[in-house]
Amino acid sequence: MIKTISYLGLGTMGSGMASNLLKAGYKLTVWNRNAEKCEPFARKGARVADTPAVASRDAELVIYSLSNDQAVEEVVFGAKGILSGINEGQIAIDMSTVLPATSLREQKAYAKHGVDFLDAPVFGSKQESADAKLWIMAAGNKAIFEKVKPILEHLGQTVYYFGKNGNAAAMKLVGNLIVALEMEALAEGLVLAQKAGLDLNTVMEVVKVADFRSPLLVSNGQNILKRDFSASFALKLMLKDAGLIKKFAENLQSPIPALRVAEKNLESAVALGFGKENASALIKALEKEAGVEVKGAPLAKIPAVSPAFAELRRGRERRPTTAGHL
Ligand code: NAP
Repeated sequence: MIKTISYLGLGTMGSGMASNLLKAGYKLTVWNRNAEKCEPFARKGARVADTPAVASRDAELVIYSLSNDQAVEEVVFGAKGILSGINEGQIAIDMSTVLPATSLREQKAYAKHGVDFLDAPVFGSKQESADAKLWIMAAGNKAIFEKVKPILEHLGQTVYYFGKNGNAAAMKLVGNLIVALEMEALAEGLVLAQKAGLDLNTVMEVVKVADFRSPLLVSNGQNILKRDFSASFALKLMLKDAGLIKKFAENLQSPIPALRVAEKNLESAVALGFGKENASALIKALEKEAGVEVKGAPLAKIPAVSPAFAELRRGRERRPTTAGHL
């Protein structure tokens, strides 16, 4: 049974997953490019490594969640990277969203060191990662999958096996194609509703219940109405994923006309300076074009006291009291 794990990449997703591994009782080593992010883990008993190679040396299992293919290139293949520390018999899992071709390249490089590798990207965002409610897909050797499944179950609510290496990475891109189009649809729909003068709170009430409802539309729609663009899934990461999807689909000659439109709007929103905001800030590109800002009216306040008591209080307020309050 695996007891020692190293987790590399303590960003939005990695920090939640690493916390859940600590909570589950694994002996954890952490590494992050910006070492400050390791401090909360050190306080909770994790060992901090100063390079990916050192982090990988002693752990039975090495897991990482990094921004993009370039980051994987540096952390896995670079000088002092995982491949220069990891040894025969260990297992590596890449939970980043990367091209399936990158997963295959990783698998081949690990195999040369006698290391088993799974690509295991995730659906869900910051909250799901913190709450161990991710939806995880994994691909690679089936026996290795079975061995690490109990560990992945500490991170997610479902774990799916997708067969050969690269397939889980491919499924992640299929899912993110759908996510990007949902975000584009939400942004276009809300801008149109605003232009049409509809009450946007009521619009979202309908989105919540109608047959096109989705948790993604509801949570992002409500946050847009509050103008809350704090990042769970950064806009620049969604633009990165649009690029991956395009490359992947073009390679397979699979048509993605709507994705091309969404990518253009993602590019515009990033160019406007919103890359670090949540992916829902995609709407800001459309708002600029439309000359509107989509904003919900503040929700009506529920009276804190009953109407009868409020009337009584109004009467008393009209008669000054010596204490100046009720
Ligand atoms: P994030 O918060 O931006 O964290 C990215 C992590 O990668 C950080 O630890 C960062 O280190 C590290 N990193 C980036 N470039 C690096 C480099 N060149 N060398 C070494 N480390 C590097 O991103 P995230 O939201 O956690 O996403 C992580 C992965 O999960 C991405 O592939 C993303 O597409 C995917 N994902 C995200 C979500 C989501 O909702 N956020 C959902 C599903 C999948 P520093 O701290 O030093 O910058």
